[in-house]
Amino acid sequence: MPAALIDGKAISAAVRQQVTADTAEFVAATGVTPHLAAVLVGDDPASQVYVRNKERACEKCGLKSTLHRLPADTTQDQLAQLVADLNADDSVHGILVQLPLPAHLNAEPILDAILPAKDVDGFHPDNVGRMLQGRPRFLPCTPHGVMKMLEHEGIETSGKHAVVIGRSDIVGKPMGALLIQRGADATVTICHSRTADIGAITRQADILVAAVGIPEFVKGDMVKPGAVVIDVGINRVNDRLVGDVDFEAASQTASAITPVPGGVGPMTIAMLLNNTLEAARLASGTTD
Ligand code: NAD
Repeated sequence: MPAALIDGKAISAAVRQQVTADTAEFVAATGVTPHLAAVLVGDDPASQVYVRNKERACEKCGLKSTLHRLPADTTQDQLAQLVADLNADDSVHGILVQLPLPAHLNAEPILDAILPAKDVDGFHPDNVGRMLQGRPRFLPCTPHGVMKMLEHEGIETSGKHAVVIGRSDIVGKPMGALLIQRGADATVTICHSRTADIGAITRQADILVAAVGIPEFVKGDMVKPGAVVIDVGINRVNDRLVGDVDFEAASQTASAITPVPGGVGPMTIAMLLNNTLEAARLASGTTD
Protein backbone atom coordinates (compact mmCIF):
# COMPACT_ATOMS: atom_id res chain seq x y z
CA MET A 1 0.00 0.00 0.00
CA PRO A 2 1.45 3.39 -0.88
CA ALA A 3 2.49 5.61 2.01
CA ALA A 4 0.16 8.18 3.55
CA LEU A 5 1.08 11.72 2.58
CA ILE A 6 2.11 14.06 5.39
CA ASP A 7 0.66 17.36 4.23
CA GLY A 8 3.03 20.12 5.32
CA LYS A 9 0.85 22.79 3.75
CA ALA A 10 -2.17 21.81 5.84
CA ILE A 11 -0.18 21.40 9.06
CA SER A 12 1.60 24.71 8.55
CA ALA A 13 -1.76 26.39 7.89
CA ALA A 14 -2.94 25.13 11.29
CA VAL A 15 0.22 26.50 12.97
CA ARG A 16 -0.17 29.84 11.18
CA GLN A 17 -3.81 30.05 12.21
CA GLN A 18 -2.74 29.60 15.82
CA VAL A 19 0.01 32.22 15.44
CA THR A 20 -2.50 34.63 13.90
CA ALA A 21 -4.94 34.21 16.79
CA ASP A 22 -2.18 34.47 19.42
CA THR A 23 -0.70 37.52 17.71
CA ALA A 24 -4.06 39.30 17.69
CA GLU A 25 -4.42 38.56 21.39
CA PHE A 26 -0.87 39.77 22.10
CA VAL A 27 -1.36 43.00 20.15
CA ALA A 28 -4.66 43.66 21.92
CA ALA A 29 -3.06 43.10 25.32
CA THR A 30 0.20 45.01 24.80
CA GLY A 31 -0.33 47.40 21.88
CA VAL A 32 2.89 45.98 20.43
CA THR A 33 3.09 44.32 17.00
CA PRO A 34 5.71 41.54 16.81
CA HIS A 35 8.32 42.66 14.30
CA LEU A 36 10.71 40.56 12.23
CA ALA A 37 13.65 42.30 10.55
CA ALA A 38 15.06 40.30 7.65
CA VAL A 39 18.47 41.06 6.17
CA LEU A 40 19.22 40.08 2.59
CA VAL A 41 22.68 40.66 1.16
CA GLY A 42 23.15 40.44 -2.61
CA ASP A 43 20.73 39.15 -5.19
CA ASP A 44 20.74 35.37 -4.97
CA PRO A 45 17.42 34.47 -6.66
CA ALA A 46 16.50 31.62 -4.28
CA SER A 47 17.20 33.79 -1.23
CA GLN A 48 15.02 36.56 -2.66
CA VAL A 49 12.13 34.11 -3.00
CA TYR A 50 12.64 32.75 0.53
CA VAL A 51 12.74 36.22 2.07
CA ARG A 52 9.70 37.38 0.11
CA ASN A 53 7.76 34.28 1.26
CA LYS A 54 8.72 34.98 4.86
CA GLU A 55 7.62 38.61 4.56
CA ARG A 56 4.26 37.62 3.05
CA ALA A 57 3.68 35.00 5.72
CA CYS A 58 4.39 37.59 8.44
CA GLU A 59 1.90 40.03 6.98
CA LYS A 60 -0.82 37.36 6.72
CA CYS A 61 -0.42 36.48 10.40
CA GLY A 62 -0.50 40.10 11.60
CA LEU A 63 3.22 40.33 12.26
CA LYS A 64 5.26 43.26 11.02
CA SER A 65 8.22 42.53 8.79
CA THR A 66 10.91 44.82 7.47
CA LEU A 67 13.36 43.84 4.77
CA HIS A 68 16.85 45.33 4.83
CA ARG A 69 18.42 44.83 1.43
CA LEU A 70 22.15 45.29 1.16
CA PRO A 71 24.20 45.20 -2.05
CA ALA A 72 26.36 42.17 -2.90
CA ASP A 73 29.54 44.15 -2.18
CA THR A 74 28.53 44.99 1.41
CA THR A 75 31.50 44.71 3.77
CA GLN A 76 31.65 42.61 6.93
CA ASP A 77 31.69 45.81 9.01
CA GLN A 78 28.64 47.26 7.27
CA LEU A 79 26.66 44.09 7.86
CA ALA A 80 27.82 43.92 11.48
CA GLN A 81 26.73 47.54 11.93
CA LEU A 82 23.24 46.78 10.60
CA VAL A 83 22.91 43.85 13.02
CA ALA A 84 24.07 46.10 15.87
CA ASP A 85 21.47 48.71 14.90
CA LEU A 86 18.71 46.08 14.79
CA ASN A 87 19.86 44.69 18.16
CA ALA A 88 19.54 48.19 19.63
CA ASP A 89 16.12 48.88 18.07
CA ASP A 90 13.47 48.01 20.67
CA SER A 91 10.76 47.89 18.02
CA VAL A 92 12.51 44.89 16.39
CA HIS A 93 11.83 41.55 18.09
CA GLY A 94 13.35 39.07 15.67
CA ILE A 95 16.37 39.33 13.36
CA LEU A 96 16.93 36.99 10.45
CA VAL A 97 20.03 37.12 8.26
CA GLN A 98 19.23 35.17 5.11
CA LEU A 99 21.89 32.59 4.27
CA PRO A 100 23.99 31.97 2.30
CA LEU A 101 25.86 35.25 2.46
CA PRO A 102 28.07 36.24 -0.48
CA ALA A 103 31.39 34.34 -0.36
CA HIS A 104 33.47 37.30 0.88
CA LEU A 105 31.38 37.57 4.07
CA ASN A 106 31.85 35.42 7.14
CA ALA A 107 28.45 34.35 8.46
CA GLU A 108 29.58 33.03 11.83
CA PRO A 109 30.48 36.31 13.58
CA ILE A 110 27.36 37.92 12.12
CA LEU A 111 25.04 35.23 13.48
CA ASP A 112 26.92 35.30 16.80
CA ALA A 113 26.34 39.06 17.01
CA ILE A 114 22.54 38.76 16.90
CA LEU A 115 21.15 39.13 20.41
CA PRO A 116 20.09 35.63 21.54
CA ALA A 117 16.70 37.07 22.54
CA LYS A 118 16.18 38.22 18.92
CA ASP A 119 17.67 35.11 17.28
CA VAL A 120 14.44 33.73 15.81
CA ASP A 121 16.36 31.31 13.57
CA GLY A 122 17.73 29.64 16.70
CA PHE A 123 21.29 29.55 15.36
CA HIS A 124 23.06 31.50 18.15
CA PRO A 125 25.35 29.29 20.29
CA ASP A 126 23.41 30.41 23.37
CA ASN A 127 20.16 29.14 21.87
CA VAL A 128 21.79 25.96 20.54
CA GLY A 129 23.15 25.23 24.03
CA ARG A 130 19.75 25.83 25.58
CA MET A 131 18.14 23.50 23.06
CA LEU A 132 20.69 20.77 23.85
CA GLN A 133 20.06 21.16 27.56
CA GLY A 134 16.31 20.87 27.07
CA ARG A 135 15.52 24.45 28.14
CA PRO A 136 14.97 26.08 24.75
CA ARG A 137 14.41 29.74 23.96
CA PHE A 138 14.05 29.49 20.17
CA LEU A 139 14.24 26.18 18.35
CA PRO A 140 15.71 26.15 14.83
CA CYS A 141 12.77 26.43 12.48
CA THR A 142 13.25 23.45 10.14
CA PRO A 143 13.84 20.71 12.72
CA HIS A 144 11.20 22.28 14.96
CA GLY A 145 8.80 22.13 12.01
CA VAL A 146 9.59 18.44 11.54
CA MET A 147 8.83 17.75 15.21
CA LYS A 148 5.53 19.61 14.85
CA MET A 149 4.63 17.49 11.83
CA LEU A 150 5.34 14.27 13.68
CA GLU A 151 3.31 15.48 16.64
CA HIS A 152 0.42 16.61 14.45
CA GLU A 153 0.32 13.25 12.66
CA GLY A 154 0.39 11.36 15.97
CA ILE A 155 3.63 9.64 14.99
CA GLU A 156 5.22 8.08 18.05
CA THR A 157 8.93 8.89 18.47
CA SER A 158 9.49 7.40 21.91
CA GLY A 159 11.67 4.29 21.75
CA LYS A 160 11.82 4.51 17.96
CA HIS A 161 15.03 4.46 15.97
CA ALA A 162 15.32 7.78 14.15
CA VAL A 163 18.02 8.08 11.51
CA VAL A 164 18.97 11.56 10.31
CA ILE A 165 21.04 11.92 7.16
CA GLY A 166 23.01 15.17 7.32
CA ARG A 167 24.92 16.93 10.09
CA SER A 168 24.54 20.60 9.23
CA ASP A 169 24.15 23.12 12.02
CA ILE A 170 20.77 24.25 10.70
CA VAL A 171 19.10 20.90 10.03
CA GLY A 172 20.91 17.62 10.76
CA LYS A 173 22.51 18.33 14.16
CA PRO A 174 19.53 20.12 15.74
CA MET A 175 17.18 17.50 14.26
CA GLY A 176 19.08 14.79 16.09
CA ALA A 177 19.15 16.92 19.24
CA LEU A 178 15.38 17.42 19.25
CA LEU A 179 14.65 13.75 18.62
CA ILE A 180 16.71 12.65 21.65
CA GLN A 181 15.23 15.21 24.04
CA ARG A 182 13.07 13.99 26.89
CA GLY A 183 9.54 13.89 25.61
CA ALA A 184 10.62 12.87 22.10
CA ASP A 185 12.74 10.00 23.43
CA ALA A 186 13.90 8.55 20.12
CA THR A 187 17.13 6.64 19.73
CA VAL A 188 19.04 8.66 17.17
CA THR A 189 21.68 7.83 14.58
CA ILE A 190 23.14 10.67 12.52
CA CYS A 191 24.67 9.78 9.16
CA HIS A 192 26.83 12.06 7.04
CA SER A 193 29.13 12.15 4.05
CA ARG A 194 31.71 9.88 5.74
CA THR A 195 29.23 7.26 6.97
CA ALA A 196 30.03 3.78 5.68
CA ASP A 197 27.26 1.63 4.18
CA ILE A 198 24.57 4.20 4.78
CA GLY A 199 21.79 1.98 3.41
CA ALA A 200 22.44 -0.61 6.14
CA ILE A 201 21.75 2.13 8.70
CA THR A 202 18.79 3.81 7.00
CA ARG A 203 17.11 0.41 6.63
CA GLN A 204 16.98 0.25 10.45
CA ALA A 205 15.12 3.54 10.71
CA ASP A 206 11.58 3.70 12.03
CA ILE A 207 11.78 7.42 11.26
CA LEU A 208 14.11 8.53 8.48
CA VAL A 209 14.93 12.23 8.06
CA ALA A 210 16.85 13.19 4.92
CA ALA A 211 18.72 16.52 4.94
CA VAL A 212 21.48 15.89 2.43
CA GLY A 213 21.06 18.35 -0.41
CA ILE A 214 21.40 15.63 -3.08
CA PRO A 215 18.33 15.06 -5.28
CA GLU A 216 16.68 11.68 -4.62
CA PHE A 217 19.64 10.47 -2.54
CA VAL A 218 17.41 8.09 -0.56
CA LYS A 219 16.37 5.21 -2.81
CA GLY A 220 13.43 2.91 -2.19
CA ASP A 221 15.67 0.07 -1.01
CA MET A 222 17.15 2.30 1.71
CA VAL A 223 13.77 2.56 3.45
CA LYS A 224 12.53 0.00 5.97
CA PRO A 225 9.01 -1.23 5.25
CA GLY A 226 6.58 0.83 7.31
CA ALA A 227 9.04 3.64 8.09
CA VAL A 228 8.06 7.31 8.33
CA VAL A 229 10.10 9.32 5.83
CA ILE A 230 10.68 13.04 6.27
CA ASP A 231 12.29 14.73 3.29
CA VAL A 232 13.90 18.04 4.20
CA GLY A 233 15.72 18.43 0.88
CA ILE A 234 14.88 21.17 -1.58
CA ASN A 235 16.84 20.80 -4.80
CA ARG A 236 16.17 22.52 -8.10
CA VAL A 237 16.47 20.09 -11.02
CA ASN A 238 15.51 21.40 -14.47
CA ASP A 239 13.23 24.04 -12.93
CA ARG A 240 11.52 21.42 -10.78
CA LEU A 241 11.82 21.12 -6.99
CA VAL A 242 13.02 17.69 -5.94
CA GLY A 243 13.63 16.35 -2.45
CA ASP A 244 16.46 14.24 -1.08
CA VAL A 245 14.25 11.14 -1.31
CA ASP A 246 13.13 9.21 -4.38
CA PHE A 247 9.50 9.91 -3.57
CA GLU A 248 7.90 7.41 -5.93
CA ALA A 249 10.03 4.49 -4.80
CA ALA A 250 10.05 5.35 -1.09
CA SER A 251 6.24 5.74 -1.13
CA GLN A 252 5.94 2.05 -1.97
CA THR A 253 7.82 1.06 1.20
CA ALA A 254 7.16 3.78 3.77
CA SER A 255 4.00 4.05 5.89
CA ALA A 256 4.03 7.87 5.68
CA ILE A 257 6.10 10.39 3.72
CA THR A 258 6.42 14.14 3.20
CA PRO A 259 6.26 15.48 -0.36
CA VAL A 260 8.54 18.11 -1.91
CA PRO A 261 7.27 20.74 -2.35
CA GLY A 262 4.50 20.98 0.23
CA GLY A 263 6.21 19.07 3.01
CA VAL A 264 8.81 20.44 5.41
CA GLY A 265 9.28 23.75 3.55
CA PRO A 266 6.01 25.39 4.66
CA MET A 267 6.64 24.21 8.23
CA THR A 268 9.94 26.10 8.38
CA ILE A 269 8.20 29.40 7.69
CA ALA A 270 5.39 28.65 10.16
CA MET A 271 7.91 28.01 12.93
CA LEU A 272 9.69 31.27 12.12
CA LEU A 273 6.42 33.14 12.65
CA ASN A 274 5.93 31.26 15.89
CA ASN A 275 9.43 32.27 17.05
CA THR A 276 8.86 35.91 16.13
CA LEU A 277 5.73 36.07 18.26
CA GLU A 278 7.65 34.31 21.05
CA ALA A 279 10.45 36.91 20.77
CA ALA A 280 7.92 39.74 21.17
CA ARG A 281 6.45 37.98 24.19
CA LEU A 282 9.91 37.61 25.71
CA ALA A 283 10.65 41.30 25.13
CA SER A 284 7.39 42.35 26.71
CA GLY A 285 7.77 39.96 29.64
CA THR A 286 4.44 38.29 28.87
CA THR A 287 5.90 34.84 28.38
CA ASP A 288 5.51 32.18 31.10
P1 NAD B 1 24.30 21.08 4.06
O1 NAD B 1 24.91 21.01 2.70
O2 NAD B 1 24.76 22.07 5.04
O3 NAD B 1 24.45 19.64 4.75
C1 NAD B 1 24.24 18.47 4.03
C2 NAD B 1 24.65 17.29 4.89
O4 NAD B 1 24.51 16.12 4.12
C3 NAD B 1 26.09 17.36 5.37
O5 NAD B 1 26.12 17.29 6.77
C4 NAD B 1 26.77 16.14 4.76
O6 NAD B 1 27.59 15.44 5.70
C5 NAD B 1 25.62 15.25 4.35
N1 NAD B 1 25.95 14.56 3.12
C6 NAD B 1 26.40 15.09 1.97
N2 NAD B 1 26.66 14.09 1.08
C7 NAD B 1 26.33 12.95 1.70
C8 NAD B 1 26.38 11.57 1.31
N3 NAD B 1 26.81 11.22 0.10
N4 NAD B 1 25.99 10.66 2.20
C9 NAD B 1 25.55 11.02 3.42
N5 NAD B 1 25.48 12.29 3.84
C10 NAD B 1 25.89 13.23 2.99
O7 NAD B 1 22.74 21.18 3.81
P2 NAD B 1 21.55 21.61 4.80
O8 NAD B 1 21.57 23.08 4.97
O9 NAD B 1 21.50 20.72 6.00
O10 NAD B 1 20.32 21.28 3.84
C11 NAD B 1 20.04 19.96 3.43
C12 NAD B 1 18.91 19.99 2.43
O11 NAD B 1 17.75 20.50 3.06
C13 NAD B 1 19.13 20.87 1.22
O12 NAD B 1 18.47 20.30 0.11
C14 NAD B 1 18.45 22.18 1.61
O13 NAD B 1 18.02 22.92 0.48
C15 NAD B 1 17.29 21.65 2.38
N6 NAD B 1 16.73 22.57 3.37
C16 NAD B 1 15.39 22.65 3.41
C17 NAD B 1 14.78 23.46 4.35
C18 NAD B 1 13.29 23.49 4.40
O14 NAD B 1 12.74 24.45 4.88
N7 NAD B 1 12.63 22.43 3.93
C19 NAD B 1 15.55 24.20 5.24
C20 NAD B 1 16.94 24.07 5.20
C21 NAD B 1 17.51 23.24 4.25
